[in-house]
Amino acid sequence: MIDELINLINDTDSQGPLQTIPVSPWKILVVDDDHEVHSTTRFVLRDQRIFGRPLRLLHAYSGLQAREHLREHPDIAVALLDVVMETEQAGLDLVGYMRDSLKMMECRIILRTGQPGYAPELTVIHEYDINDYRTKAELTHTRLIVTVSAALRAYQQLYTIAQNRRGLELIVGAAADLMEQYAISGLAEGVLTQLAALFQLPLDGIVCTQKGAPSGGDDQHCYVVSAAGRYARYIAQPLEALPDPRIVSAILTSVAQGQHLFGPDYTVLYLKAAPHQEAAIFLDSEQALTALDRPLLEVFVANIAACFRNVKLVERLNHIAYHDPLTRLPNRLQFITDLDAAAQAQTDIVAALLDIDHFADLNDGLGQDIGNLLLVAVAGRLQARLGSECRLARVGADVFGVLGPEPQVNATNLLALFHDPFEVGEYQFPVTITLGLCRNLDNADSGITLLKRVNIALNRAKRSLSAHYEYYLAEMEDNTRWRVEVIRHLRQDFQLGKLQVWYQPQIALTTGAIVGLEALVRWPDDIRGFTQPPDVFIPLAEYSGLIVQIGVWVLEQACAQHSQLAADGFEMLKMAVNVSMAQFRKADFIEEVARALERYRMSPSLLELEITESIAMDEPKVVLQSLEALKRLGVQIAIDDFGTGYSSLGQLQSLPIDCLKIDRTFVKEIQQGKGGMYAETIVGLSQKLRVDSIAEGVETLEQAGFLRGLGCTMAQGYLYAPPMPAEQLRQWLRSAVYPNRL
Ligand code: C2E
Ligand code: CA
Ligand code: CA
Repeated sequence: MIDELINLINDTDSQGPLQTIPVSPWKILVVDDDHEVHSTTRFVLRDQRIFGRPLRLLHAYSGLQAREHLREHPDIAVALLDVVMETEQAGLDLVGYMRDSLKMMECRIILRTGQPGYAPELTVIHEYDINDYRTKAELTHTRLIVTVSAALRAYQQLYTIAQNRRGLELIVGAAADLMEQYAISGLAEGVLTQLAALFQLPLDGIVCTQKGAPSGGDDQHCYVVSAAGRYARYIAQPLEALPDPRIVSAILTSVAQGQHLFGPDYTVLYLKAAPHQEAAIFLDSEQALTALDRPLLEVFVANIAACFRNVKLVERLNHIAYHDPLTRLPNRLQFITDLDAAAQAQTDIVAALLDIDHFADLNDGLGQDIGNLLLVAVAGRLQARLGSECRLARVGADVFGVLGPEPQVNATNLLALFHDPFEVGEYQFPVTITLGLCRNLDNADSGITLLKRVNIALNRAKRSLSAHYEYYLAEMEDNTRWRVEVIRHLRQDFQLGKLQVWYQPQIALTTGAIVGLEALVRWPDDIRGFTQPPDVFIPLAEYSGLIVQIGVWVLEQACAQHSQLAADGFEMLKMAVNVSMAQFRKADFIEEVARALERYRMSPSLLELEITESIAMDEPKVVLQSLEALKRLGVQIAIDDFGTGYSSLGQLQSLPIDCLKIDRTFVKEIQQGKGGMYAETIVGLSQKLRVDSIAEGVETLEQAGFLRGLGCTMAQGYLYAPPMPAEQLRQWLRSAVYPNRL
């Protein structure tokens, strides 16, 4: 046991754990007012080496002088004290000073006294932790050496324990610091600096690795997560990339064996935080870690493992925050982070947003479960076909983000990914997409800006009838800014009650009688110059959703106007009101119509709702249900801008409609005896469907005559009257020939 201890002490005699420090002598303080005692002690201990270390004697001839030495040399290992000096208690006072004031707890004390009668009380011996008490006569030559050796051994033990405790305190402190780290990279960097400080190692002699790629996935290789100096550039790379085979093989061995490795000039610490959370830290040292360091390292590793688990937990939470649970792809937040990085880098990366066409219809039609499966299938194909250089994300319900080099991320390539249908359960889905793309990512300041840009391009592509994709151009943004401004002003003016409804008369072609009015919204001009004509601001109002409120208001105004006109005797006029798709989508639209009719005691058959052909055909399911409900109310339905869409006769027949409105462009064609083929077809179609037809934009008598000849029932246009404000309309109606009144 003693031998082991001596070995241990000999082992650690370099004090500094890993460095070769020149062997320092044991400091021994000799305090005695008798010069004789000093010289004997010097003589006996001269040239002695104890546990491999020489001795250095410090001599004091009074208590006062001793205090100076003690203050100056806190590492005195043994003090040989005379009890009686200046005073009878001088020696014991000195002991009190060492223990109480200087807190020198490890220093061993041997009391020497000339006369046996001066032995201190036993309680004092215990209280001051005094090692030995001898008469000077007792401390003969060998006896002194043995006593001093025993005291030194005790000192070394105490010193070691104290060092360990200090080390532990440091480690606990380090671990507390490391607990604050929420990312593997931060933790690994912290471990590196703490280890270097704790064991006085050079920073670039430490390499932290973890099993599994930092980016996640099932990869089980080791990756460098932290290193300094010459190894810093291998961070995030596979372990094997390190140029030093000694490090590579040591780490691999440690991980394979699942244990620490203590080599002759290196140490590998092995960490296992959880079944799939393993890490290894390589420490380069000039000599083997001492037995003293090992227990400290064990404690350190246990603490790091806890931090590692903590980090992994936070990473999992982060994963949840940054990933879409359905497709397991990164989510919008992560995509923005990726875009942020792309905005910093000077590379030829392209960002794209990919929107699945008509996904909402599919979701409504086949159910959300099928919709989800389709999204997973799309995500899967994107992942499989777009190499590992591309970053993917699910940015919105049916919108995916792609980020990668131009050869992969370009319109042709991405569209080609959707040539084949997707298999979902027993279904085969042909899927088409619309794309927004953006090049030159590095001239944006942030990921958010980039996302906005790609989105602008995507919206452009979505609005376009022919293109399936658009690349972002700076001009688009100017346009967007302008659009945003217009919408802002429109909303403001609408809330301030500045919008108006004008009315344009509709005429029966056979009799020339006024049969109806179309309500058309107006945004009167003011000095700011932001007001726009309806064909500009209506699409913007539709885009922003503002059309829902505006539409309800127009409907109310039109019905109110109708009831006033009825009171004035024009009760048989039909009132046509335009309706946008967004209004149809609102669940309470039918109710709103019913309420307006009720409030103004208007006969439902006198209200005609105009929906554009493209709306009616794009989302037939939504529209059909609403139209049927409207029909049950007794309201009339007209298809506006007819001829500009692509409806088939079959589709038309399935809709409960009362009137086809021939678009102005076809009326315009009717010129100077050339006739108009489209107008003719549409009128023929309306006759087949047994519905009315009304031509809009009739400006000449010739057009009116031609249409009358075709059998078109009604007309509307500048030939008869332009849209007019309510007051002007009233005057016009009074002066006009109005057969219904006669
Ligand atoms: P629309 O429904 O096709 O309206 C007919 C448009 O033709 C009106 O343009 C009208 O002023 C114009 N017009 C009438 N007679 C003639 C003519 O003889 N020659 C020519 N060249 N044009 C004529 P406006 O008022 O600028 O409205 C444009 C479009 O804005 C409308 O087209 C309609 O789609 C939309 N709109 C207008 N008011 C509303 C509304 O209250 N709600 C909704 N949803 N859309 C509206
Ligand atoms: Ca219309
Ligand atoms: Ca029209």
